[in-house]
Amino acid sequence: MKTIGLLGGMSWESTAGYYRAINQCVQKSLGGLHSAKIAMVSVDFEPIEKMQQSGDWASAAEILTRAVRDVQAAGADFLLICTNTMHKVAPQIEKGIDIPLLHIADATAEVLVDDKIKNVGLLGTKFTMEQNFYRGRLQEKYGLRVLVPDEEDRNTVHNVIFNELCLGKTNHQSKMEFMRIIEKLKNEGAEAVILGCTEIGMLVQQEDTDVTLYDTTAIHAEKAVEYALQDGIRESRK
Ligand code: GLU
Repeated sequence: MKTIGLLGGMSWESTAGYYRAINQCVQKSLGGLHSAKIAMVSVDFEPIEKMQQSGDWASAAEILTRAVRDVQAAGADFLLICTNTMHKVAPQIEKGIDIPLLHIADATAEVLVDDKIKNVGLLGTKFTMEQNFYRGRLQEKYGLRVLVPDEEDRNTVHNVIFNELCLGKTNHQSKMEFMRIIEKLKNEGAEAVILGCTEIGMLVQQEDTDVTLYDTTAIHAEKAVEYALQDGIRESRK
């Protein structure tokens, strides 16, 4: 079994979900008392979020690159960045390490393509919904047509993520808003909707809607375990 490297803390609420999902997947695959081999560094999100707001992605990339070097030094065989948004600086982060990065948008798109989905709605932070590093990657690399909510609804989704979900708060009114937005995306032609922010699964689950949801946290965690177990359960090189 390979050691899974996690860059966490963005937010820690979603990283806790990754930790649980990865361990559950390993236990389901191997049974007994098996659990995942994980090397994790969890950063302080407050300064990173300020850098996102001011557009200082270069400083955020520097902090995260230092953190992933520690993940590698702790014995990780490959890396997961436990947030969709910070994949904006994935190219810089990748330059700082020798281990492979399992990109969250690739992991998700591969499942969508396997499921023959062509038109997909995307919910996430404004950065994820609006910028090319994520939306563009889905479109250009995988040929998906990506639908996002209108500006007002994008603001709603973004604000719920930062003001509620990243603080561990789940609010019924916000859930109803998300359900309305998901339904609207479906009416505009989305065959499914990507929960493209690692906290949204705390608020919205598949049983809440008949629109097929692709939860990036769950998919990323599953792909990581698949990759970690590819060579069987022999000891990793570390
Ligand atoms: N975890 C979130 C995401 O998946 C948002 C927090 C962040 O900006 O990193 O995008």
